[in-house]
Amino acid sequence: MSTLIDQLRAIVGAAHVLTRDDGNDLSAWEQDWRKRAHGHALAVVRPGSTDEVSAVVRACAAAGHSMVPQGGNTGLVVGSVPDDSGHQVVLSLTRLNQVRAIDGANLTMTVEAGCILQTLQETAQKAGFLFPLSLAAEGSCTIGGNLATNAGGTQVVRYGNARDLCLGLEVVTAQGEVWQGLGGLRKDNTGYDLRDLFVGSEGTLGIITAATMKLYPLPAAQLTAWAAVPSLEAAVALLGLAHRHLGAGLTGFEVMGQFALGLVDRHMPQLRVPLWADHPYCVLLENSDSESEAHARTQFEHLLESAFEDGIVSDAVVAESLQQAHQLWHIRESIPLAQAEEGLNIKHDISIPVSLIPAFCAETDALLQREIPGVRLVNFGHLGDGNLHYNVQAPTHGDPATFLREQEARVNTLVFDQVHRFGGSISAEHGVGSLKADKLVQYKDPVALGLMRSIKQALDPHNILNPGRVLA
Ligand SMILES: Cc1cc2nc3c(=O)[nH]c(=O)nc-3n(C[C@H](O)[C@H](O)[C@H](O)COP(=O)(O)OP(=O)(O)OC[C@H]3O[C@@H](n4cnc5c(N)ncnc54)[C@H](O)[C@@H]3O)c2cc1C
Repeated sequence: MSTLIDQLRAIVGAAHVLTRDDGNDLSAWEQDWRKRAHGHALAVVRPGSTDEVSAVVRACAAAGHSMVPQGGNTGLVVGSVPDDSGHQVVLSLTRLNQVRAIDGANLTMTVEAGCILQTLQETAQKAGFLFPLSLAAEGSCTIGGNLATNAGGTQVVRYGNARDLCLGLEVVTAQGEVWQGLGGLRKDNTGYDLRDLFVGSEGTLGIITAATMKLYPLPAAQLTAWAAVPSLEAAVALLGLAHRHLGAGLTGFEVMGQFALGLVDRHMPQLRVPLWADHPYCVLLENSDSESEAHARTQFEHLLESAFEDGIVSDAVVAESLQQAHQLWHIRESIPLAQAEEGLNIKHDISIPVSLIPAFCAETDALLQREIPGVRLVNFGHLGDGNLHYNVQAPTHGDPATFLREQEARVNTLVFDQVHRFGGSISAEHGVGSLKADKLVQYKDPVALGLMRSIKQALDPHNILNPGRVLA
């Protein structure tokens, strides 16, 4: 009888089945991006077509080996790497990397799951369209991973998250069947929405092999402004004003706390962070305009004039060139890296109704500082859609590793209890993975959790797709 490895080699070709026994270093597939987990895979399998994915799933299921789907392995919640049993198969989708079709009249693009996000943005642009999903990992994350995690990023305030951009999916089920759900329909009320079931399911319900995604017309101009604000309340007021002045042109609204920007200034002085030293918060705004750059600039000027009059902006700069705009965005995107340079930290990717964010931060900052004197709060995020990266850095004195070991559980409880109290979510855009699976049991509505378990049982009764992720 042939072994599973032999069968996998017969399906995808020997070159695309990697094992440690053959002398391969599997650490790129076994270790997560944040280096919080390093598992051991039986093999890494790299199918090159949907039919091959289907055959791999059937073979693994028949042999009783569970699978971990993987795209770019940039996920932040330990969902894309194997456990340490040495029994799981990593199913890497990166060879499924074709753009199958662009339909300009329908404003859609049908792409395979392993396409790199940045490649899709560039492909759309070359065809004269905008594909607006955008996040700092776009150079290595895949659209399959984006859909499996329902990724958000910087443009959600205008275009929504990955779910909102998806019109159809092709999925290999846990039984190895292929659901052909591609199609560019914006209206289709023929029963349960299976697409929405698979989007955000983090590889636990099916393997996404292709997707039909929405495109938009390219804007005539995109302008970026950087504004210093006197408080978080002012930042929220500025968001309201920006909605009124810019309408659908408001495509980005990020907030950055002074300590977060101070870390960028300390670890990446060459980036020259503007206006941070004398203001508690700065805001990055993007205005995408369908008319012209001059129109976009006038709109921004009117917005900032009103904001100065209302006292909700203390100082501001509008980027003079695309290069300057990129520099400003680069500062924002460098905060996680600067934080990593500063040392180990505890990350929270939370969402709160925008109106409650100032009160949430004031209370939670005070609570943490009272309970754990000296903790440093790195607060930044996509304020436009209510998503904060509310991170906690170890005090300057003492060893950060010891701080994490001794305080992480307590810090998480303090923060998540507050999020719950404010009607928020403990995972806004990164997902659950295995890192937050136990927290879901604590904070998710019990009826919702029961329904989720029923869905998992119905679609994957033998628990062969990414077991232990999302549902503990
Ligand atoms: C520097 C940095 C910045 C980031 N910024 C953001 C941000 O702004 N917004 C945001 O939302 N996220 C962000 N992330 C997180 C991460 O990039 C996203 O979660 C991304 O969507 C993951 O894509 P991936 O291809 O790397 O997926 P992976 O990490 O490989 O997988 C993520 C999950 O999806 C599953 N999966 C992957 N591919 C498939 C598939 N084809 N079918 C079924 N399941 C699959 C995996 O099993 C796993 O559970 C950031 C990460 C980094 C490193």
